[in-house]
Amino acid sequence: MLAQRTTLFNPSGTAAARAAAKQAADAGREIIDLTAGEIWADLSPDVRRGAIEAIDKGINRYTDTIGIMELREALAEKVSSHTGQNWTVDEIAVTSGAKQALFHCAMVILNPGDEVIIPAPYWTTFPAQILLAGGVPIFVDTRASGYVPRIDDIKAAITDRTKAIVINTPTNPTGAVYDVVTLMGIAEMAINRNLWVIFDECYGDFVHAGQVHHPITALAPKARPRTLIVNAFSKSLALTGWRIGYLSAPKQVINAVKALQSHTTSNPNVIGQHAVLAHLRRGDGSYESRLRDQLAAGRRLGLALLSSMKRVPIPVADGGFYFYLNLTEILKSTAKEPVARNADHVADRLLRDAGVAAVSGTAFGDPMGLRLSYGVPLGALEVGLHRVIDVLNSWE
Ligand code: PMP
Repeated sequence: MLAQRTTLFNPSGTAAARAAAKQAADAGREIIDLTAGEIWADLSPDVRRGAIEAIDKGINRYTDTIGIMELREALAEKVSSHTGQNWTVDEIAVTSGAKQALFHCAMVILNPGDEVIIPAPYWTTFPAQILLAGGVPIFVDTRASGYVPRIDDIKAAITDRTKAIVINTPTNPTGAVYDVVTLMGIAEMAINRNLWVIFDECYGDFVHAGQVHHPITALAPKARPRTLIVNAFSKSLALTGWRIGYLSAPKQVINAVKALQSHTTSNPNVIGQHAVLAHLRRGDGSYESRLRDQLAAGRRLGLALLSSMKRVPIPVADGGFYFYLNLTEILKSTAKEPVARNADHVADRLLRDAGVAAVSGTAFGDPMGLRLSYGVPLGALEVGLHRVIDVLNSWE
């Protein structure tokens, strides 16, 4: 008797992997959980103080639907300095995490049957939300081009019904960072074909190895009227549970999102808003650089260990905090009964044989990939990766 739309989505693949790890741990097994889409870190002292001060002041009530004005002003300033452009409060909405911003984007720009291009492997929630909004996800495979789409492949996927393209750089799950030429090509194509660009830069603070993250509106100001920039403090301040994200977009989009949000969650969590505002006002950047150093150390350690894998190429890991393994070679077993035929089997075997939880690429539209997070403490990362490597290297 449930609505038909419940057939459009399953529990998120990453949440399912987390749940499997927890179930094994609850059964008494010692599990190293490398599924996390979040960073293990202490809270920023400014966030903590901001939250406590707000509680002590008795701040309890609803706020303006798309966030308190002071926070929107601080965010407009942040986005302006990030893009080198002038952004005003009318173009900013605070949301309950990036997830709500993305969902609301889909809901306010899509009509039934509108197609949305998503480079694959993709973060599992993009297609689910597009389907829920009545749209049709159209995937462009990036596996043969270093997980960054070729412009010609995107063009080939465009039809009369294409309404938008989702760009997520740095990319979850692959760690790819889009280069300037690709971003300029996407912007030009969006302008020529009259498409919206949903630009998810949640991992924008975490780029490694000399890579640079480019906000697309800075590269292509003419694309700005059709670009919806989604960001959050979930990753950049290791604040996933606090649910504070934001959308920077043309005023008409913000107004529609405001109306929609007024009927869904009313406003983002009030204490979270004050806490983040305190950080934006008082933070000197040292917390962010500590996070970046922590991730850089995890990445260095992980890549050094993963270089001993015999049949899996070293992952790209240019941005974000994931190692994305390409298992194609290892799954090409000639054995009659191979140990694994796809990444789901590999993830099951790793949990069973190595006590390590990872996310299978099927959650990201790629049955040959495996995502390992290095946002975990270094000790756990080292033990976990050793175990993964031992298992994978033992397979014929
Ligand atoms: N976009 C991407 C690419 C993500 O990986 C995630 C979280 N895993 C989100 C958005 C959602 O972030 P939030 O927790 O702020 O809703």
